[in-house]
Amino acid sequence: MNFSSKLLEQAVAEFGRLPGIGQKTALRLVLHLLKQPDAEVSRFTEALDRLKREIRHCTTCYNISDATTCEICASAKRGNGLICVVEDTRDVMAIENTNQYHGVYHVLGGLISPMDGIGPSDLQIDSLIRRVEEGGVQEIILALSATMEGDTTIFYLYKKLKGFGVQISTIARGIAFGGELEYVDEVTLGRSIATRVPYERNIAS
Ligand SMILES: [Zn+2]
Repeated sequence: MNFSSKLLEQAVAEFGRLPGIGQKTALRLVLHLLKQPDAEVSRFTEALDRLKREIRHCTTCYNISDATTCEICASAKRGNGLICVVEDTRDVMAIENTNQYHGVYHVLGGLISPMDGIGPSDLQIDSLIRRVEEGGVQEIILALSATMEGDTTIFYLYKKLKGFGVQISTIARGIAFGGELEYVDEVTLGRSIATRVPYERNIAS
């Protein structure tokens, strides 16, 4: 692209770095922003600026939060004995949307993926084990996607956690056909959590 302005070129390059945004879309977005009133553009840039500067991760479950303890962990209505382990915050949002889960979460921040150089120490696995060691956990639901990375992570977590005497369950794997939890509809996702099965049964065959 031949830009008439260096500033325009720079802004388009930044937008173009976002996932799923090509050069043409980036240009359309930047030109759209240029037409907006100053106050609106300021609101936009401030939201991004504050997002990066002020956002926290809950020090218990590692979900994205505004405070050091997220609203779910802080709620007296949630049962601390049931932990649902997920890949990222999108999964928490999807499961919360079902209104059928009343336990707490643990957000790994990714999945084990040797191909991408992501090992157990890159994820919030030690912190999960510490939570279990502290006691009071009866069941852990491993709600991870039915991909090779998801399976690898589930098996790793199972090996790490099986000695603690907690029930380890997985959600019905049939529902997530190699896809991600966030794309599954709420009814199906809610049902798959309600009908979760002990992991041991899955690996017995
Ligand atoms: Zn939390």
